[in-house]
Amino acid sequence: MKAELTCFAPNCRASFPVTAVLYNCSRCGGLLEVTYSGGPLPPEELKRLWLDRRTHNNPIDQSGVWRYREALPFLDDEARIVTLREGNTPLLDAPRAASYAGLDRIVFKHQGFNPSGSFKDNGMTCGVAQARRLGMQRVACVSTGNTSASMAAYASAAGLQSVVLIPHGNIAAGKLAQALEYGARTLQVEANFDQILKLVRVLAEKLGIYLLNSINPFRIEGQKTIVIEMLDQRGWAAPDWIVLPGGNLGNVSAFGKGLRELQQWGFIRKLPRLAVIQAEGAAPFYEFFRSAGSRGFEPVLHPQTLATAIRIGDPVSWPKALHEINTSNGAVEKVTEQEIADAKAQIGLCGIGCEPASAASLAGARKLVSAGVIPAGADVVAVLTGNLLKDPDYIHRYHTGALRTPGGTPLESTYGNRPVVVPNDPEEIAAVLAH
Ligand SMILES: *Cc1c(COP(=O)(O)O)cnc(C)c1O
Ligand SMILES: [Zn+2]
Repeated sequence: MKAELTCFAPNCRASFPVTAVLYNCSRCGGLLEVTYSGGPLPPEELKRLWLDRRTHNNPIDQSGVWRYREALPFLDDEARIVTLREGNTPLLDAPRAASYAGLDRIVFKHQGFNPSGSFKDNGMTCGVAQARRLGMQRVACVSTGNTSASMAAYASAAGLQSVVLIPHGNIAAGKLAQALEYGARTLQVEANFDQILKLVRVLAEKLGIYLLNSINPFRIEGQKTIVIEMLDQRGWAAPDWIVLPGGNLGNVSAFGKGLRELQQWGFIRKLPRLAVIQAEGAAPFYEFFRSAGSRGFEPVLHPQTLATAIRIGDPVSWPKALHEINTSNGAVEKVTEQEIADAKAQIGLCGIGCEPASAASLAGARKLVSAGVIPAGADVVAVLTGNLLKDPDYIHRYHTGALRTPGGTPLESTYGNRPVVVPNDPEEIAAVLAH
């Protein structure tokens, strides 16, 4: 199959060589996607090959991204690949979370099991492979945290320098720690995410740095494998719904593209419906979708949510996301800070855990069930996008009743689990444990 970069705008569809250093269409400014001409091998053959590779010791076969390389054949040479064994994330049954959502059953696809603790690794291994292929020495991104953690890890593993730009003071401690430890030049800019995104594009051009934000179409190719692996793990039985949180909307775009391609290539017959969930204080896509075309897309100027991974006011990938939600007959929902916090505690009580943004998927599924959009008996996979340990401060505050919204309103510690201070005395400890 031949790979090209193609403009996503339906009235343009200009195409460019896959080796062009481009982040937007140079004709109309539209988003770019990687497109392939022709189809891969027959599905039955690939299904067998992909399953078989799970038993191999070859590093790229052990990768939960590159194992599926026939579905993302944009590279000219496998030697470009640097893998930390990304992907390979489990499907976890969670009966307690299912009953919380009002569902008979829910399964979590937990992307927090990735090497740097979020799904960004699925995309980053591809973005960094492409950077090497283009001969780039430096890569950069602006990030709410997980992109920078992931990029720093993959860049260092590949021997590239990385430059991370983050909004000053608005990033979870675990994520910043990762960028520092993995060796990224880390700049805390006094501006919000959307402003820094504009800044980094100017810098990339000026200094010849390769940009690895989610607008990068090669990252989207890697993130497609989240749904490919999910279906592989389910014996290619498509679920009714896939629910995931949405910030910049790159991930829902990747899921939609991956599923459409799987359908087109004959791997699955029906498309799962995609539900994307936003935080109430950063929900421009929800508001736009709800307006049903009666107004244009309006960014949120001051996005606010404790779920920092989805604190995005001007999501770059919204046109792709809209296409995927429409094509899959999907849904868009928004959830409050309290709903996110309580859903997160419920996921913790399943013995699973996740970071705040990830819990929006359970909170959103619950809302869509109670609204009658998702029936109780539906086959639902909710994606947990990031690891529990990314944001320990939030957890401590929730369980001790000290969590407040960005506006300062105290949140209810509904499922709080406060640590108890006890004296060094077996009698008293026994008394405490008696109730
Ligand atoms: C990046 C991220 C998101 C949002 O994904 P988008 O592709 O920006 O919509 C959600 N959760 C976590 C943990 C993330 O790191
Ligand atoms: Zn164009």
